[in-house]
Amino acid sequence: MSAQLIDGKAIAAALRDDLKQQVSNLPLQPGLAVILVGDDPASHVYVGNKIKACEAVGIQSFESRLPADAPQEEVAAQIDAFNNNPDVHGILLQLPVPKHLDSDALIQMIAPAKDVDGLTLHNIGALVAGLPGLVPCTPQGSLRLIKSVRKDISGLNAVVIGRSLLFGKPMGQLLLAENCTVTQAHSRTQNLPEVCANADILVAAVGRPKMVQADWIKPGAIIIDVGINRMDNGKLCGDVDFDTVKEIAGAITPVPGGVGPMTIACLLANTIAAAK
Ligand code: NAP
Repeated sequence: MSAQLIDGKAIAAALRDDLKQQVSNLPLQPGLAVILVGDDPASHVYVGNKIKACEAVGIQSFESRLPADAPQEEVAAQIDAFNNNPDVHGILLQLPVPKHLDSDALIQMIAPAKDVDGLTLHNIGALVAGLPGLVPCTPQGSLRLIKSVRKDISGLNAVVIGRSLLFGKPMGQLLLAENCTVTQAHSRTQNLPEVCANADILVAAVGRPKMVQADWIKPGAIIIDVGINRMDNGKLCGDVDFDTVKEIAGAITPVPGGVGPMTIACLLANTIAAAK
């Protein structure tokens, strides 16, 4: 058997079409501000892609590029300025920031109502408490992909490999809120293959190429591969051994073209939600 391919590119495109429609019906133009400190080439590409995606759905983008040696106070002042700008509804501090900066402190300065990355303690707390708030983009996108193949996941066993604040922890909380029985695995988990073999939904977010093997998979499981790894030949691969796992799983995301495209689409969704 070969698994259903979960086409993140197509699902993200459909979401963007829907968002464009929503923007055209709003009484105001949503605005997203991106702060980029330093000259990391990958970050410049990500920010460029985010700005293009904003324009495509009708969101106004604001950009602040600060030098690599910008002091904490200068970045904080920029956040403050965007917090107080009524045309800005979402603020994103592109991570990672240069090492001399305290990124945790900077993130917490973002007004929770404009925290489109969902990383302030307010929004993390809201997620855990089951209250309305802005949900981090990659976990939100991953849940949308799961629900594209199965709407009601209540009662299913879900295993999330990874417990970062950026992805693993919020992903676990989202699945819990959907009434899954959630196991949060990490580097100290014992017998990981056995733990995974119980999963109706398996989400891998580790950063280790092809770590998840076919004999870890429950037949018919939904597999979401969040990992992005560059191989020696320059190609990208996920944390899941796609070619063998797809023979056992029920549905699976590819890398690239799975979770990746959903992240930016959910950033746009959060900006529109913040504007509303
Ligand atoms: P991270 O902060 O490095 O977290 C990695 C997690 O994996 C940690 O919780 C770690 O456990 C766990 N881990 C490490 N080795 C393990 C092992 N051998 N067995 C089981 N668990 C293990 O990374 P992240 O930010 O969550 O990102 C994870 C991956 O997702 C990366 O490849 C990243 O590039 C990708 N990602 C993709 C997107 C996207 O848009 N597609 C967005 C975000 C992240 P401990 O906590 O015990 O150390």
